[in-house]
Amino acid sequence: MQSIYINNARLISNDRIVYPGYVYVQGSKISDLGEGDINVGEDVKKIDACGKYLSPGFIDIHIHGGGGYDFMDATVEAFLGIANTHVQYGTTGMCPTSLTAETENIYRVLDAYDSALKENKQGSKFLGVHLEGPYLAMGQRGAQDPKYIRNPNPEEYKAILAYSDHIVRWSAAPE
Ligand SMILES: [Zn+2]
Repeated sequence: MQSIYINNARLISNDRIVYPGYVYVQGSKISDLGEGDINVGEDVKKIDACGKYLSPGFIDIHIHGGGGYDFMDATVEAFLGIANTHVQYGTTGMCPTSLTAETENIYRVLDAYDSALKENKQGSKFLGVHLEGPYLAMGQRGAQDPKYIRNPNPEEYKAILAYSDHIVRWSAAPE
């Protein structure tokens, strides 16, 4: 893997913007960053950021779609379309999020995630599924379709959890 040196950037760090800043990536790891410039080897790919912002990738843990697709489409094409769209705008990782739906549609989303995970080479990395509902409060349902909101059913949710290792987050009403 080629090393990359980016300089002349507005570097977004945890407490300030460093300008002019540099980032040195050796292999797949950031080995150095700071203000000004450092000397790197001839074989290193050099990128002049021309004063643009350079920040860590955005991790989106609640995302429903993008690029004309919705995760509820439950197809590999939709999953990859969404990941390939958002990676262009700085989202490097995401948790595909389902909508409150019939049980069979939740399973379809889990199946599509499983297939898409293996195919996703260029898009935002899939970090696990976020299920949103269906066990939500009517008064706090936001954009969720009330038709599918229901009380927790252990038979249903235990089966869903047993079905997939990819569920990392499940939004539900605490009451
Ligand atoms: Zn949502």
